[in-house]
Amino acid sequence: MRNISEKKRIVIKLGTSTLAHATGKLNIRRMTNLVRVISDLHNSGREIIMVSSGAVGLGAGKLGLPEKPREIKEKQAAAAIGQCELMHFYDDMFAKYSVTVAQILLTKVIINNSNHCENFKNTIETLIKMDVIPIVNENDTIAIDELELEIGENDSLSALVANLSGADLLLILSDIDCLYDDDPRINSNARPIAVVEEITPEIERAAGGAGTGLGTGGMSTKINAAKIAADAGIDMVIMNGRNPELLYDLFENKEIGTIFKAAPH
Ligand code: GLU
Repeated sequence: MRNISEKKRIVIKLGTSTLAHATGKLNIRRMTNLVRVISDLHNSGREIIMVSSGAVGLGAGKLGLPEKPREIKEKQAAAAIGQCELMHFYDDMFAKYSVTVAQILLTKVIINNSNHCENFKNTIETLIKMDVIPIVNENDTIAIDELELEIGENDSLSALVANLSGADLLLILSDIDCLYDDDPRINSNARPIAVVEEITPEIERAAGGAGTGLGTGGMSTKINAAKIAADAGIDMVIMNGRNPELLYDLFENKEIGTIFKAAPH
């Protein structure tokens, strides 16, 4: 029996493939539904922190580029455009349910600096007290460079955010239903895995491979996130973001997606 219904502070990570079409334009139907369900979870008393990708993807979409730019400075310019677009959408869509959102942009340098980290934690606590949903992304316009200031993908970032904000659940919404024991795009007999008690080499092998389309991470970055979360004592769920109504089922302890259990402390 799962205990998701007991979770109070939840980091919800949304990938670009969940929030945008392959064109890089916002997936309006899905995002409208998702924002409605997240607002409802928030209204029911859960403390929600979102980690949202989409800056580079939406920026590329707005510029009418056929794919994400490859050159760093163009990627950063696309992120500057897309982040603005992204927050405009969130602000607008959440306002429909009278939910206030706030933007927080992080870099690795901030996460590695204890003073900055304290400021981040204090801001998160204060926003939650104010009944606001913080929406975090990496500060892509300054983070992507040769000095390796970047985290580079938001799966790991969301696990770091979950740890810093004292969350009890990390929920990764992706374009796959769950973890399978083999790559379902190649092997049609691949079987879903409902619970991962421990990340063993077999689990890592099952996760192999990278993502598709506009997204950045594949299953392997999610396993990395699960490791960070597990070590921090946080359960992580990965599920498909395609049907936001399933979030209600998840919080009624139904078997949705894959749960990666926190390491025993
Ligand atoms: N921070 C990137 C963006 O907003 C996304 C990184 C990722 O896809 O994991 O475009």
